[in-house]
Amino acid sequence: MKVLVINCGSSSLKYQLFDMETENALAKGLVERIGIEGSRIKHTKAGQDAVVTETAIPDHKVAVKLVLDSLLDGEHGVLSSLDELSAVGHRVVHAGEKFACSVRLDDAVMAALKECIPLAPLHNPANITGIEAITSVLPDVPQVGVFDTAFHQTMPKHAYMYGVPYRYYENYKVRRYGFHGTSHFFVANRCAEIMGRPIEDLKIVTCHLGNGSSITAVKDGICVDTSMGFTPLAGVLMGTRCGDIDPSIVKFIAEKEGSVDKADTILNKESGVHGVSGISSDLRDIEDGMEKGDERATLAFEMLSYSITKYIGAYAAAMGGVDAIVFTAGIGENCKAIRETVTENLGFLGASVDKSKNDFRGEERIISSDDSKVKVMVIPTNEELVIARDTKKLVSC
Ligand code: ADP
Repeated sequence: MKVLVINCGSSSLKYQLFDMETENALAKGLVERIGIEGSRIKHTKAGQDAVVTETAIPDHKVAVKLVLDSLLDGEHGVLSSLDELSAVGHRVVHAGEKFACSVRLDDAVMAALKECIPLAPLHNPANITGIEAITSVLPDVPQVGVFDTAFHQTMPKHAYMYGVPYRYYENYKVRRYGFHGTSHFFVANRCAEIMGRPIEDLKIVTCHLGNGSSITAVKDGICVDTSMGFTPLAGVLMGTRCGDIDPSIVKFIAEKEGSVDKADTILNKESGVHGVSGISSDLRDIEDGMEKGDERATLAFEMLSYSITKYIGAYAAAMGGVDAIVFTAGIGENCKAIRETVTENLGFLGASVDKSKNDFRGEERIISSDDSKVKVMVIPTNEELVIARDTKKLVSC
C-alpha cells in the first residue's frame, strides 16, 4: 500500500510518499511560494539528490498536480500510475473538541473543520485548501485527516479550562487545546518502546522544541496536560512567540502600538528568543552570540532553558513523578546545550546527563547517565509516519 502524506500551509505544501509495507519514505518534497512570485517545487526521490523546478504555481491545485507529476516522473518518480496511490493523509492543525483521533474525510468532517477556522485562522484554511485540491485532482482516492489537537483531547477538564467566565467555554469553546499532538504521541510511544515497558505504566514528559515549542505530560499513555493553549502562543519561550505572559501585557502593548492586531503580531512574530536577543529566532545564532559574550543572547538562552525546566517540574508534580523526559524537533534533536542545561536543572528529580552521551545531533539516543533515576532521551520526531500509519489503518477497515 502506498500512502501520500500532505502538510499544507498557506503558501507551501510538504509531501511524502510512503510504502506502508516497509514504512519507508519513497519520495518527499516541498512546494514553496504558492501564489507568490518565485514559486518552486523541490522533489527528492529516496537515494537521489533533490531536483528543484522553478515554475509558476498560482494555487494549491496546480501545486498538487506538480506533486503528482513529480511522483510519476520517469527519472525521479516512484509511481508508474496514480492507481498505485491507495490513500492521502493530511495534517490538519485544529479539530476543536470534535475529534479525539484521526478520521476519514467526508463532507460532514470537512464542515466540522471549517467550523474550527476561527480557532486556527492561520492554519485550518490552508489545510482545508490542500484537502480540496487533492479532492479535485484525485476524487476517488480516500483521504484521512490527522489532527494536531487530537492527542490532547484526553486532558482532564481541570487542566484544559481557563479561569475566565464559564460562558466563554460554553459559547465559544475557549479552552486549552494544545498542538504538536502527533509529534508528542510518536515520541512518547517510541520512548516506551526504547524503555521496553508498556506506555500505560509510564510517566513521560515530551519536549517538542522547534520554532514553535510545546511540552506535554503523558501519563499511562495519554496526554494529561500540555503547554500550548487556546492557540500555539502559550507555553515556553519560542523562536518568535512570547509563550506565557501576564495577559494584561496584551492590553498594554495594544495601547502603546494603537491596535490589538499590532500587539498580536508583536507577540507572535517579534517576541520570544528573537525579541529578547535582538539577534535571531534561531538557537544556532543565539549560541554564536553567547560565544561572543552577547548578554541578551545569553539571557534568551537562560530564559528558554528556565521555562522548559519549569514546565517539566510542573508536569512531574501533575503526574506525581516522571520516569522519562524526551527531547525532539529542531532544538530538542540538535541543541546539546539546552538538553544538558535542562537536565542538570532537574537534578532534584534524580535526572543526570552523561555529557559524552549527549555530544551529538539528530539521532535517537539515551543521554542520561546510567545511574540517572529519570531516563532522558532524544527521539527524532516523525509526524509524517504517524499520519501515514493512521491513514493506512482507517482506509483498511
Ligand atoms: P519548526 O517548528 O518550524 O518545524 P524545527 O523543528 O525545524 O522548526 O526547528 C527549527 C529550530 O531548530 C531552529 O530555529 C533552531 O532554533 C533549532 N536548531 C536547528 N538546528 C540546530 C542546531 N544545530 N543547534 C541548535 N539549534 C538548532
